[in-house]
Amino acid sequence: MAVAPPPGAGLPAAPVRQRSLGWRLVWATLVFCVLFILASVMALTWSAWNAGLARMDADLAQIEQVYGDILSKAIWELDREALKTYVRSAEGVASVGKIVLTVRLANQPPEIFESAHVGWSGPGWAPMRRLRLAYAPFPGGREEIGELVLYGDEQVLWRRLRSQLATIVVAQLLQSLMLAGLIMLMFNRMVTVHVRRIASHLEGVRPGNLGTHLRLERGSQSQDELAQLVSGVNQLQSSLANHLERQQRYEHELAEHRDRLAHLVDERTAELQAANARLQSLARTDPLTGLPNRRHFDEVRIIEMRRAQREQQSLALLICDIDCFKDFNDHYGHPMGDQCLVTVAQALQMQLGRAGDLVARIGGEEFGVLLPATGRSAAYKMAERMRAAVAACAIEHLYSQAAQVVTISIGLAVLEPGAKEEFEALFQEADQALYRAKAAGRNQVAGPGAPCFARP
Ligand code: GH3
Ligand code: MG
Ligand code: MG
Repeated sequence: MAVAPPPGAGLPAAPVRQRSLGWRLVWATLVFCVLFILASVMALTWSAWNAGLARMDADLAQIEQVYGDILSKAIWELDREALKTYVRSAEGVASVGKIVLTVRLANQPPEIFESAHVGWSGPGWAPMRRLRLAYAPFPGGREEIGELVLYGDEQVLWRRLRSQLATIVVAQLLQSLMLAGLIMLMFNRMVTVHVRRIASHLEGVRPGNLGTHLRLERGSQSQDELAQLVSGVNQLQSSLANHLERQQRYEHELAEHRDRLAHLVDERTAELQAANARLQSLARTDPLTGLPNRRHFDEVRIIEMRRAQREQQSLALLICDIDCFKDFNDHYGHPMGDQCLVTVAQALQMQLGRAGDLVARIGGEEFGVLLPATGRSAAYKMAERMRAAVAACAIEHLYSQAAQVVTISIGLAVLEPGAKEEFEALFQEADQALYRAKAAGRNQVAGPGAPCFARP
């Protein structure tokens, strides 16, 4: 069953957006700086506010100190014009938002002199100071004659705080930006440049250039993390080069072994094939005469019978038998008998002229001859030639009933073109012809075409 590819499979990979480490560091620094600015601005604002309050209170205390005595004196002397002048001039001080002078003389209703900054709307967070005014008309005598209340100006407080706050924020911002820039610059020069160099070196590493070691262009040769990385990369390249070199050597040796082995296998195969062919030939060869044996004859006769019937051709079969061979053995000895067999075999073999003709030793002193595409008269001529050739060998046989030399009798049978005969029938026919040749006195050919031919 076909499996559907996962969604997106086969599409080109989206390009990876590179983000510099330096920029990430800068962003992290900036975020940290913003948080730091917020915290430090809050702390500095709180401190600036308290300082502003303390300063305003100190200003008010100084006014108290400066004006306390001269106001007491002016009240005692009931110098109202001077009092008004003093109140106005004190109100002119920046920290003072409002000033209230209450005159309380004995047997007189209280009298109030006050002055306030334009837009003053109450003390709010600003400090306030209250001073009881007293006068000593004579040494040891003290009399309370009024009260001075000084209110700080909250707007002045806020104004001062705002200006301080702007300075703080600008300073912190500048500091943060400079810090981030410095970090970026340092990181870029000390790390990013070298990391990029290492990355491009690693991209270019191939099996052929493993010997080219990585070197960074750095002023100092300090043993830091980058130096460790460089030495690690170079060590990795060296061990990789060694490994590849070893692997190539092994592959080379392996190829040599394989070639040697293939050569050996070829040699052994050829030897085996030759031995096998020799064995095959031996299995089909008669060891005494060197002629094909019965087994070979049986294989060939099947093929030739089929071919003859298929191609509507004749096939002649001759059975040659040495006459009175028992007597030869008996009188000349078995070894001479063997020698006689060899000579007869050679004589028969030498008569064959065509490629398909075959002579084989099919029994003790019997030879079978197959003559494909050979008719009666040609077969008879061949048989007669064979018989004459054996006789011409002139092997003495004084105990033969046929002649003074070794002779053969031949039974001949011919498969006529188109005949549907079995080989066994053909063989039997030739055997019977042989029997007749023997009966007729031996040393002759019997069969179709022969003078003594007669079908049983
Ligand atoms: P006929 O003319 O009727 O054929 O008589 P014959 O003696 O040739 O026939 P018979 O069948 O009686 O004898 C065949 C002899 O052939 C018997 C055996 O000793 C001999 N013989 C068979 N094979 C060999 C062999 O390999 N070597 C030798 N030396 N003799 C063999
Ligand atoms: Mg025989
Ligand atoms: Mg015989």
